[in-house]
Amino acid sequence: MAQCKICNKDIDMKNPYFVLSFNKETSEDGTKKIIQSEEGAIICEECGSEGINSVLRNLKLINDADTQLKEKMHLLEGSIDMLHLMKEYKISAEKVGTKNQYLAKCPFHDQESSFLIDADNKEYFCFCEGLAGDIFSFIINYDRDVSQKHTTLKQAVDILAEKFPLQ
Ligand SMILES: [Zn+2]
Ligand SMILES: [Zn+2]
Repeated sequence: MAQCKICNKDIDMKNPYFVLSFNKETSEDGTKKIIQSEEGAIICEECGSEGINSVLRNLKLINDADTQLKEKMHLLEGSIDMLHLMKEYKISAEKVGTKNQYLAKCPFHDQESSFLIDADNKEYFCFCEGLAGDIFSFIINYDRDVSQKHTTLKQAVDILAEKFPLQ
């Protein structure tokens, strides 16, 4: 099942859809020859119906938004203190071992001593499920298991940026 590069909707391949391809062409003795071809993107009928200019404009917007999101994630990852984040979620952790690691009650499964926080690498491990993750997946999993709501990566980034404003 393919997804539309613009709207992300699943495309039923039985229905018509658009394919944006990138061909390198040459013309020898009036005969057109494709010397290289790259299949770029599959676009649903709705998104493609306004023509190539609209498709390219939308792809640029998506790409810009994606770049901005990645930059924001990078900045947040660099500035957020994992222990501050845990405190924000009322998770109290105890230091274990010699590294900058802490053990807590797993917030996702409510199980004692099942949640390891690695403050240096800004990661966590839930031993109940064998789940590891970063600050963004923490928000997504917390919302799913505790707040019972679906949070996207973009929303998780916004939640973190609100709690820990970037200077
Ligand atoms: Zn579409
Ligand atoms: Zn757990």
